[in-house]
Amino acid sequence: MELNKRQTEILEIVKLDGPITGEQIAERLKLARATIRPDLAILTMAGFLDARPRVGYFYSGKKPTQSVSDGMIGMKVGDFQSIPVVVNENVSVYDAICQMFLEDVGTLFVVDKSSCLSGVLSRKDLLRTSIGTTELEKLPVHVIMTRMPNITYCKKQDTLIHAAKKMMDKQIDSLPVIIEKSKGLEVVGRITKTNITAAFLSLAEEHEL
Ligand code: ADP
Repeated sequence: MELNKRQTEILEIVKLDGPITGEQIAERLKLARATIRPDLAILTMAGFLDARPRVGYFYSGKKPTQSVSDGMIGMKVGDFQSIPVVVNENVSVYDAICQMFLEDVGTLFVVDKSSCLSGVLSRKDLLRTSIGTTELEKLPVHVIMTRMPNITYCKKQDTLIHAAKKMMDKQIDSLPVIIEKSKGLEVVGRITKTNITAAFLSLAEEHEL
């Protein structure tokens, strides 16, 4: 929520000298009490000020810059994404498993020979194949991956809420962050449930919750 100049001034006065009555605030601003009544109502309703009968207004401690909901809407994929781990579609399932351990990720993105997104490999995709197949060194990942056009993805400028909703709706743990190119989708990042948890926590810390 954006405060206007007068509301900001009122907040400063209360912060310094609260508890203070509406009458005294008006005096300090050289305005009539009735003139500042709507501003006081807005500041109180928005939670920036608390009012006690016969005591006056005092500062609630809430930061005036942004409400939690504005902060949440402002969180963009690009601010929280991680580095993507990609493998080529001809890599063996065995090598993909090694890569997953080495890079310590839960999902690998698969790219074709022009480096465009062609599939996704999850932990369970690899586990399922390992149970049912013996020659993992000879089996290329393109045989077992979830492939385009069935890949759910997002873009840097999308809100984190939008990305979280996609993950929940599709029951998946991560999304590739892509840039659309004429040859296909270039993978530039990765959003996981861990990123969403980190964002949730940063919001709480920012608002001193
Ligand atoms: P796990 O299977 O290890 O629990 P996920 O829930 O992320 O991990 O994956 C479930 C299934 O959805 C897997 O078959 C996987 O290939 C597929 N999948 C994962 N991420 C995506 C995505 N972004 N788009 C489409 N399919 C995906």
